[in-house]
Amino acid sequence: MKIILLGAPGVGKGTQAELICDHFNIPHISTGKLFRLNVAEGSDLGLQVNEYIKKGKLVPDYLTISLVEDRLNKDDCKNGFLLDGFPRDENQAKELELFLNKKGEHIDKVLLIEVSEKVILDRIAGRRVCPKCGESYNVKYNPSKVGDKCQVCGSELIQRSDDKEEVVLERLAIYNKVTKPIIDYYNALGVLYRIQGEDDINDIFKSILAILETD
Ligand code: AMP
Repeated sequence: MKIILLGAPGVGKGTQAELICDHFNIPHISTGKLFRLNVAEGSDLGLQVNEYIKKGKLVPDYLTISLVEDRLNKDDCKNGFLLDGFPRDENQAKELELFLNKKGEHIDKVLLIEVSEKVILDRIAGRRVCPKCGESYNVKYNPSKVGDKCQVCGSELIQRSDDKEEVVLERLAIYNKVTKPIIDYYNALGVLYRIQGEDDINDIFKSILAILETD
């Protein structure tokens, strides 16, 4: 199953992505997480993308698309994958389509998680991430079982630098301007499914499973 998770920052894509990927045993490919790990490692790519991420701007396509294509060429993507945070504009959507078509593949389902802006701002304020392994938590809705440490690797959790309110507002503006139009693109292809994302985590996951388990 080849899936795209769409939605504004803070709608819970990362949380649902983990649940879906565990259930179907497919890799979770989050461009934001890959970029953040590169920044934390101080790699060449990390140095190139850091300024864009800090300001909430999109990383240029020549860096983003090659990162995704290299990842999708790995063996573990043969039986499916879930893309989270990519594509983010119409050009990325078209490049992805071309890339998959060349391999005789296509996206099966695009899940759009929808949440009001008020709830988004509340969720982002409580979001914490592990700087080492990239695991994401929320102090209110999805806390780490070991307090302010990562329950996967034990590192001290931090707030993402781009989760500050002024940067979040910029990220939301970019979402509304350049990412929202790709909803129509996938709707026209007949693969778009809308999910109400304000329920609790398990109820949202149940609605997602119902969609993914229907032909
Ligand atoms: P995210 O974790 O998906 O919210 O992404 C965090 C940041 O990484 C974004 O604000 C962008 O700066 C960058 N980023 C992630 N995915 C993409 C993408 N598909 N295209 C361009 N920039 C991206």
